[in-house]
Amino acid sequence: MPDPAMARPLVLVVEDEAALATMLRYNLEKQGFRVDEAADGQEALSRISETTPDIVLLDWMLPAMSGLEVCRQIRRRPATRDLPVIMVTARTEDQDAVRGLNTGADDYITKPFSTEALIARMRALLRRSGSLPTKSTLAFDDITLDLASHRATRNGRALHLGPTEFRLLQYFLEHPRRVFAREELLDAVWGKDIHVEPRTVDVHIRRLRKAINGPEERDLIRTVRAAGYAIDTEAA
Ligand code: CA
Repeated sequence: MPDPAMARPLVLVVEDEAALATMLRYNLEKQGFRVDEAADGQEALSRISETTPDIVLLDWMLPAMSGLEVCRQIRRRPATRDLPVIMVTARTEDQDAVRGLNTGADDYITKPFSTEALIARMRALLRRSGSLPTKSTLAFDDITLDLASHRATRNGRALHLGPTEFRLLQYFLEHPRRVFAREELLDAVWGKDIHVEPRTVDVHIRRLRKAINGPEERDLIRTVRAAGYAIDTEAA
């Protein structure tokens, strides 16, 4: 049973076999996903430009443009560089799967596959990409963020965060230890359509540090020179 409280991620199913596409749509919708379809690579790329899905299920063997090429093009566009892609292949050779992953697919699944196996992989990827929050509480080290009540604590002490600092901390907690460039943080926390200077991120990181780090506590925000910021227990 799909959890009604859970977000309903949008899946783009790229599949030229109509019967398989219909079956996938039926099973995915039953599991609480929204489904969009494309029967070939060109259509897939134009669908993606119109409405970016949360995840792409990409058939390898497509007419005209192969799944590999579609994946390459998805990765080439800055807006979809991090879009989760699962390659669907009928081939069993490891060599091909490795090629698929090198092209930028996040995972692959070999036909025939069970709906359960597919959905498990999709959920794992969506959780990693932050499209599927699984808990109402996020935690890292001694920091806890309660998304339902919008409260943050460190070591039991309430943290006073502005709305931007809250979203920033939430994003870090959703991706612990991952280093984000300022531009990535701007896209994720401020939104793609808002034009702010990358230096704005520094200002809010400073505020976040001040809010979360008590006098005796270690700094959990790691500054990576020329790369960006991460939440990490090794902040040095
Ligand atoms: Ca096919």
